[in-house]
Amino acid sequence: MKSKELLMELHLDIVKNKLSHAILINTNNLSEIEKFKLEFVRILFCSNHSFINDQCVWCKKVLTNEVLDYVSVGDGHSTIKKDEIQNIIRKFSQSAIETRGYKIYFLIGVEYMTKESANSLLKFLEEPPANTFAFLITRDISLVLPTLKSRTRNYVLWEELNYLENNSLKELLHIENKYEILLFGIKLKTKTKEELIIYVQDLLDQKSLFSNEFWISLLVEFKSNIESQINQQLAIEKLLIGLYEL
Ligand SMILES: [Zn+2]
Repeated sequence: MKSKELLMELHLDIVKNKLSHAILINTNNLSEIEKFKLEFVRILFCSNHSFINDQCVWCKKVLTNEVLDYVSVGDGHSTIKKDEIQNIIRKFSQSAIETRGYKIYFLIGVEYMTKESANSLLKFLEEPPANTFAFLITRDISLVLPTLKSRTRNYVLWEELNYLENNSLKELLHIENKYEILLFGIKLKTKTKEELIIYVQDLLDQKSLFSNEFWISLLVEFKSNIESQINQQLAIEKLLIGLYEL
């Protein structure tokens, strides 16, 4: 599902007054989530729950970042700490600061939550105060603690990534013959240094998909070769040779 479709679905839930209090989103594109957050919070707070910005006072407040009952924690890569969770619980256990009455928090990268952090969140997820909504975001649902995902309504967002072809990851995991490796290499060679770094980091972030340790070490080496000013074509050649030898 694309983020626009999810927004439409959640918008209907808001209108029908049956929005789930805890939602988990598995996404392959965190930058899309940045846009989603703002748009969703705007729809929720909007005086008319309008799907498009109707310029009401609440839409304006959200878009200028003036809403106090909204918190976002985590960058998708680093650990979410227990005191960050406790701060949210403390803040949102009280009634909303603003008259709109809604309270909403996003936790980005819940796969990096310690067990302690998760445990302190569980009860709050199960028995949330009125009008309090939690959004848990992950890039890899298989790494999320089962106790968390059993308490949330779960969605998968799959966006086309602009820096790599849609099927690249799938292709990569199923490269079977040398001709395909060659084609993959040709594709890689059209990328800029920055695109390659984002691409390989994205793969490494999802490394639970790879069962093969050699694969991971190959990618780590490729990334460091690209980052250190080594000839880019040479780094790609080395990666391809590694793939040939698998
Ligand atoms: Zn509005």
